[in-house]
Amino acid sequence: MYQINLPERICAVIDRLKEHGHHGYAVGGCVRDMLMGKVPHDFDITTDAFPSETSESFPDCDIILTGLKHGTVTVVYEGENIEITTFRTDGEYLDNRHPANVTFVRNISEDLSRRDFTVNAMAYNPEEGLIDLFEGEKDISRKIIKCVGDADTRFNEDGLRILRAMRFASVLEFKVEEKTAESVIRNRKLLKNISVERIYSEFTKLILGNNATEILKQFYPVVCELFGEIPTENIEVLALCPKDHTVRYAALFSHMSADNAAGMIRALKTDNETHRLVKKLVASASAEMPEFASDRFEKDVAHLLAENGFDDLDKIISLREAFCVHSGVGTENLVKIREYAGKLIREDACLSIKSLDVSGKDLAAAGIPQSAEMGRILKKLLDLVIEGKVENEREALIECAKKI
Ligand code: ATP
Ligand code: MG
Repeated sequence: MYQINLPERICAVIDRLKEHGHHGYAVGGCVRDMLMGKVPHDFDITTDAFPSETSESFPDCDIILTGLKHGTVTVVYEGENIEITTFRTDGEYLDNRHPANVTFVRNISEDLSRRDFTVNAMAYNPEEGLIDLFEGEKDISRKIIKCVGDADTRFNEDGLRILRAMRFASVLEFKVEEKTAESVIRNRKLLKNISVERIYSEFTKLILGNNATEILKQFYPVVCELFGEIPTENIEVLALCPKDHTVRYAALFSHMSADNAAGMIRALKTDNETHRLVKKLVASASAEMPEFASDRFEKDVAHLLAENGFDDLDKIISLREAFCVHSGVGTENLVKIREYAGKLIREDACLSIKSLDVSGKDLAAAGIPQSAEMGRILKKLLDLVIEGKVENEREALIECAKKI
């Protein structure tokens, strides 16, 4: 197992707590990641100090109290936000969702026992070393996700843990331990009680993991619980998609109409950009694409690029490539489209109304009435430029616009 080397600022924060008579530990995901030789994206600190005592230990730092309800004090230490949470137990759970109350405790073992999986239930500080009460380190080396305590009980406390088990298995490339796995499937209905925002956040991480396809197949009843039946092909295609959540959601929902897929995404309360892209990508799955063999290839690619922009087009192509690879169909044509689109971008080709050599104002000055038609005329000019029927040159475009 890898050595744990906490960053200096984390050690300094732990030292500071100690100077004030408290104990502080790095805990949860960061300990897991370091034992796996990965660089944690953030460090959570847990302490026996009550929130007021934590605040008093950092009189020279800004303190943010937004997480106070859960015992979290955010200390701005040397410009960085560090979350310090008091050891706590979760009171009785309501609706398999949130505990009725959290109780601060002075003992780290109670705090570690409320955590979801053995690999997430370890704490560390340089003085005391690793505190591992549930064989988390062993489960890392065995690569398994296993509940702390009885799985049915833990999933009933918080149904989101069902998806978290799948998420960690997918991202860390672990297996879900047998009893935990049976319990995941048995308790899947508990997801009904979980807010869609929390589901979306975990499920998105799940589908971006290296083991996404394997986990979604293994826990197919959970997938159905969330989204209804999804064709196996869609799930297998995930592994062939780039790690972009919009492309992967589009792959999952590609058996639906674009409107139904958009409805599905809307129900997850995603941001508008995700909604826009998934809808577009699902619609694009059945659209016609330029054919390299055709003599219109270059023009068709330019139109497609003008319509979508390079980033969206790249995703459209990636999604189709994944389905082609899955069904053993060649992707040469798609590769050519991407290549040629890239070339057009590099050459700064005229692909938008903005890059035309005239503006609406110019046309108005040349006597074309400023009306709702103006946008249509400019679009038509762009099409003609792409088709090579008129030069992207001011005078020529104005002449052409008069005819339109
Ligand atoms: P990541 O690297 O994705 O941030 P993480 O393990 O840090 O992984 P978080 O969701 O940030 O996951 O949670 C931090 C820690 O809090 C977890 O490691 C776990 O100990 C605990 N935890 C988080 N959510 C739950 C939950 N629903 N039930 C029990 N413990 C939880
Ligand atoms: Mg985390």
